[in-house]
Amino acid sequence: MIRAARETHEVVNQVPFLEDVDLFAADLPLREAMTRHGAEWALELAQAAGQDAGKVETFEQGRLANTYPPRLRTHDERGHRIDQVEFHPAYHHLMALNMKHGAHCLGWTAGREGAHVARGAVFYLLTQPEAGVSCPMSMTHAVVPSLRNDPALAAEWEPRLGSREYDPSFRPAGEKAGVTFGMAMTEKQGGSDVRANSTRAEPLGAEGEYLLSGHKWFCSAPMCDGFLTLAQAPGGLTCFLVPRWCPDGSQNRFFVQRLKEKIGNRANASSEIEYDRTWARRVGEEGRGVPTIIDMVHSTRIDVALGAAGIMRQATWRALYHCTHRSAFGKRLIEQPLMRNVLADLALECEAATALAFRVAAAQDASQRGDEGERRLGRLATAVAKYWIAKRCPHVVFEALECHGGNGYVEEGILSRLYREAPLGSIWEGSGNVQCLDVLRAMQREPDTVEALFAELGQASGADSRFDAALAGLRQALADPAQAQARARRTVEGLALALQASLLLRHAPGPVGEAFCASRLGEGWRELGTLPGDAPLDQLIARADPSAR
Ligand SMILES: Cc1cc2nc3c(=O)[nH]c(=O)nc-3n(C[C@H](O)[C@H](O)[C@H](O)COP(=O)(O)OP(=O)(O)OC[C@H]3O[C@@H](n4cnc5c(N)ncnc54)[C@H](O)[C@@H]3O)c2cc1C
Repeated sequence: MIRAARETHEVVNQVPFLEDVDLFAADLPLREAMTRHGAEWALELAQAAGQDAGKVETFEQGRLANTYPPRLRTHDERGHRIDQVEFHPAYHHLMALNMKHGAHCLGWTAGREGAHVARGAVFYLLTQPEAGVSCPMSMTHAVVPSLRNDPALAAEWEPRLGSREYDPSFRPAGEKAGVTFGMAMTEKQGGSDVRANSTRAEPLGAEGEYLLSGHKWFCSAPMCDGFLTLAQAPGGLTCFLVPRWCPDGSQNRFFVQRLKEKIGNRANASSEIEYDRTWARRVGEEGRGVPTIIDMVHSTRIDVALGAAGIMRQATWRALYHCTHRSAFGKRLIEQPLMRNVLADLALECEAATALAFRVAAAQDASQRGDEGERRLGRLATAVAKYWIAKRCPHVVFEALECHGGNGYVEEGILSRLYREAPLGSIWEGSGNVQCLDVLRAMQREPDTVEALFAELGQASGADSRFDAALAGLRQALADPAQAQARARRTVEGLALALQASLLLRHAPGPVGEAFCASRLGEGWRELGTLPGDAPLDQLIARADPSAR
């Protein structure tokens, strides 16, 4: 495109506008993760998603969906309550794109080994141009195992959930070409402590039917067709399915009070809702609300890890692009030794995040096929990965933003959007501390999970002395029950780094794993860009993007 030069000066040394790119092709760690976790058959599917995700048009739709956020219409022009949210067409475009590639269903519909890894790749790639739609994609994917607690409900909803068509019409689910699902647990008095939920459930005459009264303080994507929610039934805290439309064809009493004004994630509507004799169908037994909905939460936590890895990847890839094309002090930034260290360290952090996120996706895959060892590993490693990757995400995005200099700090570029999105993964689906406490709980209630984790870690024993020392230190720390809660973040961080090190030592080229151990294990934490002088900077950068040089 020819752009008119301003009369006062010639614009030079600004990086060229991006053309369409294939986000999959440039991402070697992703391809390798898919291959080693049984999803080689899906490389072409992921490539198609990566090509669509990397189009200039898709990034532009992401910008538009954020610039023109959703609006709530509580009433129609005649004063009837309608409780609908209106979105910019760009949001609908992105939803349709995600569903076309199966970001919401591939894990359950592909029916073969590696399905959750394949779906994870699609999700990780499509979260990069815009993460707001990833929320309903994740919840729609994640609801399936919880629904399976009730075979009749699963039989009714699973075929709908498997449709690749996005149908934004507001109609009963049975009349739609495709549906999406949400989750409403958090109440005003507490989100982490859901047992404090005050919403009440009153049984109706028909088996499994109830009326709910109360509220939810956060309910994202309220235009979904159905929601899993928690309420106090006579038998205790119970899981329910609340559809937007009742079985008799009337609109359910699902009142959207207002939309949240959020720091980021602005394309996605997050609402406050009220139930007032709202029709609901019980899922699982009365009093088993948390164990029933936890299957859904387990999957969304994996998605937080995958999504945060995707955001880190996009930010780092942008930094590599910027530094390839921008010069300072007579050299391109990517040629400046100190910037090269920063970029290589960002690449290393992303590679480690990708390896760990796909490892937990693979554990979900195997445990769905009945592998008990992988279930145990996934039980513990998911909370570890969710905690650590979500925690690292804002740091990586910030550093990638700084690589852009002042251009990173203006709203026109994607970095500002990534920066405002980045902290969210660490808040929802169980905040940082809650993940760490969950790790302690799993260790205490299911000691076998610890052995599964050490079996995984042990596969890299002997590969690096720093890694061996870290493992020994972890064993020691876990054996000491004193101050376990107060020390939990340190413990979980240690487990996360050990898992990442073990994956890189086994599966990445030798110098990559070595650089990870040298920079992340042992001494205290340092800033990004502090890799040792002999670290393989060229190799790390080339693995992140072969075109960045
Ligand atoms: C954009 C957005 C969208 C959301 N969408 C949804 C949705 O669709 N559905 C839904 O149900 N919820 C949703 N949430 C809510 C989210 O899941 C909760 O905010 C989260 O679980 C934390 O709950 P809380 O806000 O009540 O904080 P609190 O539970 O009050 O926690 C506050 C802090 O205390 C920490 N903490 C809690 N207990 C302990 C403890 N025992 N020891 C140490 N620290 C502790 C937490 O880690 C957290 O840092 C959304 C939130 C956001 C920001």
